[in-house]
Amino acid sequence: MPKDRKLKVLFASSEVEPFSKTGGLADVAGSLPIALDKAGVDIRVITPRYKCVRVFGNEARLADKVPVYFINNNKYFMRNNLYAEKGGDYADNLDRFAFFSKGIIEGLKELDFKPDIIHCNDWQTALLPVYLKEIYGKQDKFYGKMKTVLTVHNLGYQGVFPKEGFPKTGLGWEYFTMHRLEFYDMVNILKGGLVYTDIITTVSPTYAKEIQTAEFGCGLNGLLSERKGALFGILNGIDHEEWDPSNDKELKYHFSALKPEGKCKEKASLQKEAGLEQRQDAPLIGIVSRLADQKGLDLIARIINPLLDHDVQFILLGTGEEKYHRLFEEISKRVPHKASINLKFDELLAKRIYSGADIFLMPSRYEPCGLSQMISLRYGTIPVVRRTGGLADTITGFDPDTTRGNGFVFERYDAWEFFDAIKKAIGIYKQKGLWAKLVSNAMKCDFSWDKSAKKYLEVYKKLI
Ligand code: ADP
Repeated sequence: MPKDRKLKVLFASSEVEPFSKTGGLADVAGSLPIALDKAGVDIRVITPRYKCVRVFGNEARLADKVPVYFINNNKYFMRNNLYAEKGGDYADNLDRFAFFSKGIIEGLKELDFKPDIIHCNDWQTALLPVYLKEIYGKQDKFYGKMKTVLTVHNLGYQGVFPKEGFPKTGLGWEYFTMHRLEFYDMVNILKGGLVYTDIITTVSPTYAKEIQTAEFGCGLNGLLSERKGALFGILNGIDHEEWDPSNDKELKYHFSALKPEGKCKEKASLQKEAGLEQRQDAPLIGIVSRLADQKGLDLIARIINPLLDHDVQFILLGTGEEKYHRLFEEISKRVPHKASINLKFDELLAKRIYSGADIFLMPSRYEPCGLSQMISLRYGTIPVVRRTGGLADTITGFDPDTTRGNGFVFERYDAWEFFDAIKKAIGIYKQKGLWAKLVSNAMKCDFSWDKSAKKYLEVYKKLI
């Protein structure tokens, strides 16, 4: 490729903030392309036009720059949700995302944009590398040299369907083998993508290693270790303009590493709003999370009562599994003056917690990257995390002797190890000088996209 020509990348994602969102994938798809644009890539985004997409015409832009194209199909995408409704996943998800993947490839001819690389994300676009290599690339010169990258955001979701549905992919039965898309007599879409894509990435260096082991590999560890030469772990970033305590329209008080005073005022204001006593001497411990086993909620369930026996305050925001809703409702009734329980999805309250709490709990069983701990750091709220995946790559234990570190880390998935780490945090909290240093360390961390966008660029360049 000539030096002065920009690399052309099409970023394909089944959700993109601010158009559609169920989780972290939307955050990444809405912010990484902006950073790649800054790094000099000619990047465009493509995504389904769901009912929730409020855009006229077939094109929008991210940050007034990166073009976003929408794929229309009223039957498949004009629905109340993205993937599932109350009763469970939509029954035709395989048809819907096979259509999306094919639609992207065929749509290129109408876009007047011939990418060097199509960057796919998760199982919803994992059929694309299969189609490109086995069908379009063989039949049509236009597609012959196009390469693919497939990013795994969470290996727990693979797009697994009953074998009877396989013909809906449009592929012949010769592709239904254990070296291609078959997985214990089921169809596994992500597996197909992992077999065929030129490069695989995942969202942190530690998770890239973990998924090659039986403990974290969700049945695909064998394939992932076979492909380890083409597997790269690149940490997600957060948008430093969206998450900025020194200049945040949604906060009443502002603060930064150099001027931290506003944080105490944010805490007092959050305490008041949450019906907690306005005390600076008791640590306010926060959680913002899906209430799911993956996030270590069972550990929290085991320690929450003994924790509330200490002189602490607790604030939780989250929705998810019914059993956790019941547990926290009981706690809310028992100690309303110490625990504020908010069982809902509320982006503003999330921000108030990130800024007003002192300590943030994230004892995940596994964590591909995790954004919440990075956001907490940015707002000077100190994470207590388990050493796994992206948590291991972003949080280092605070050492009172050297005063280095930005949080508290425990190893084993064990409630009492977790509790010990929280007690250590509470101990340091009481030593004001040390705590101020720790908060300053946290706020000085830089997990913005710039560094990671450069790493993606290096990966892209391997393909050209
Ligand atoms: P995951 O994508 O696995 O749920 P991440 O930590 O990567 O976890 O990202 C979660 C994102 O969703 C964070 O931005 C977090 O603030 C936000 N979030 C989670 N639960 C809620 C909630 N109940 N209300 C508002 N935001 C939430």
